[in-house]
Amino acid sequence: AKRRGADRIEIFNPAMRTEEENRLPLESELRMALQRQQISVLYQPITRLASNQLAGFEALMRWDHPTRGRLSPQDFIPLAEESGLIVELGSYVLSQALDEAATWHRVLPRDRDPLFVSVNVSSRQLFRQDMVQEIRLLLAREQVARGTLKLEVTESLVMENPERAVEILTWLKTYGASLALDDFGTGYSSLSYLHRFPFDIIKVDKSLVHDSSDNDQTPLILRSVVTLAHELGKEVVAEGVETQADANYLRSIGCEFGQGFYYGEPMSARDVGALLNALANH
Ligand code: C2E
Ligand code: CA
Ligand code: CA
Ligand code: CA
Repeated sequence: AKRRGADRIEIFNPAMRTEEENRLPLESELRMALQRQQISVLYQPITRLASNQLAGFEALMRWDHPTRGRLSPQDFIPLAEESGLIVELGSYVLSQALDEAATWHRVLPRDRDPLFVSVNVSSRQLFRQDMVQEIRLLLAREQVARGTLKLEVTESLVMENPERAVEILTWLKTYGASLALDDFGTGYSSLSYLHRFPFDIIKVDKSLVHDSSDNDQTPLILRSVVTLAHELGKEVVAEGVETQADANYLRSIGCEFGQGFYYGEPMSARDVGALLNALANH
C-alpha cells in the first residue's frame, strides 16, 4: 500500500500504474513528434449548399505514431493541452494550413471566390500573449485574401474569460481572420449572448445534424438555430452531413455550408491538390 496525504492509505492499483506509465512516454514522444515529422494536417471539404460548390476546408491534425499508427486528435489533444505542447502543435497547423491555402489560390481561376481554410484554436493558444501577433505576421507573410483564414473556437473556451476573449477575437478580426464558433449545440449553448462575440460563423455540431430523421425535435432545433444565427448576421456551417437527405434539408432551411462524410473525408494536402487541379481544368 502507498500512503497519500495524512489519513489515506491507497491500495496499489495496477491499472493506475499502467496509465501513468503510458502517459509519460507518450508525452515525451509527442514532444519529439514535430521534429520527427510525424504531425500531419488533413483537410476536409466544406461545401456551399446553395451552389454545391467547394468553399473551403477545415484543417484537422493527425499524429502518425511509429507503433500506435495514425492517432486522431482525441487521442492526444488532451495530453497536448495539459503539457502545453498544443501551442507549438497549433502554430504548426496554422502555418501549414495558411501556406496550403495560398497554393490553392494559385491553382484556381481568379474569378472564383478564394477557398478558405478553417483552423481549430485551443485555449492555451488563444489566451497566450503573442497569439494576435502570430496571426498578424502569418497573414502578412502569406498575403491571402481577407477571410481566407477562419479560426474555430468553442463556447467553453471563450467562456473561460469572456472579456479577454472578446478583446483578442476583435484584434484577430482586425487583422483579417474570420471567426467561427465551433461545436454549437453541445454545451450550454445559448445564442442569446453570442452577439457579444464577433463571430462570423456558427458551426452546428453533428449531433444536431445527422440524426435529424430519428428525433422529432431535432429538425425544429436546427431550423431555429439557423434562423437565429441569420438574425444575428452570422452564417452557418452544419457539421456531420452524411447523406444527401441531410444536405437537402439543410439547404431547404437556408444553412449556408455543409461539412461531412457526404462531401468528403479529411484528406491529405496532396489529394487536395489533385482535386483542385481537376476543378481548374474542368
Ligand atoms: P471538430 O473541430 O468538431 O472537427 C470535426 C470532426 O468531425 C473531425 O474529427 C472530423 O473528421 C469529424 N467528421 C467530419 N465529418 C464527419 C461526419 O460526417 N460524421 C462524423 N461522425 N464525423 C465527422 P477529427 O479530425 O478526429 O478531430 C476531432 C477533434 O479534434 C476536432 O473536432 C477538434 O476539436 C480537434 N482538433 C482537430 N485538429 C485540431 C487542431 O489542429 N488543433 C486543435 N486545437 N484541435 C484540433
Ligand atoms: Ca472544428
Ligand atoms: Ca466541430
Ligand atoms: Ca447524431
